[in-house]
Amino acid sequence: MAKNALVLFSGGQDSTACLAWALTHFDRVETLGFDYGQRHAVELACRKKVRDEIRRRFPQWQGKLGQDHLLDLGLLGQVSDCALTAESEIHFAENGLPNTFVPGRNLVFLTFAAALAYRRNIDVLVGGMCETDYSGYPDCRNNTMDAMQLALNLGMDRHFRIETPLMWLDKAQTWQLAYELGGNDLLEITREHSHTCYLGDRSRRFEWGYGCGTCPACELRAKGYQEFLQRNEGGGLAC
Ligand code: ZN
Repeated sequence: MAKNALVLFSGGQDSTACLAWALTHFDRVETLGFDYGQRHAVELACRKKVRDEIRRRFPQWQGKLGQDHLLDLGLLGQVSDCALTAESEIHFAENGLPNTFVPGRNLVFLTFAAALAYRRNIDVLVGGMCETDYSGYPDCRNNTMDAMQLALNLGMDRHFRIETPLMWLDKAQTWQLAYELGGNDLLEITREHSHTCYLGDRSRRFEWGYGCGTCPACELRAKGYQEFLQRNEGGGLAC
């Protein structure tokens, strides 16, 4: 039986690595994106480009990369007054979380992903949630994913599996994973076409890609890239 997966694919660095990971592990891979009025909506425009480039540069993955889905979750913007969807500065609140946190976002995403997967007969959901990141978003934690998997399986009477290949990786290790899965071609796609900047800035190009260079997402991506290069020093990376 063919093994199918649905990747939560935003067009960012993490989900690009997840897409490549899924393409190495499954026979057929579909992608799902959400439009919820995020101000880095430019990420959504990057989704198509990343998919096109993966098709073009990786003939072995071409036949596996299936349909793309984009769901309108504008209502998430209505209930969250935070820096990702409103025009406000990014800062850290008293509970230690940055105000880029949209409460329960990944729970909503996974519920819709599972509903779509149910309809399309897909058993595996792949997401870029990660506990190692600085942010400590509670809906990215491994325990939350375990609980969510159980809730989805009980509530939909299915045997979904949530795979989170980045859960225990830091950003440097995510760059490393991309390199191991797709070599310099995948690094190039990640740098040139994936987007992570919270402010949606693509006017400046750094060695790690496009962004404002100063928001928490850019800082994390830049720092991870430098560490990745340092760890591979003398290793023949064509960066
Ligand atoms: Zn930025």
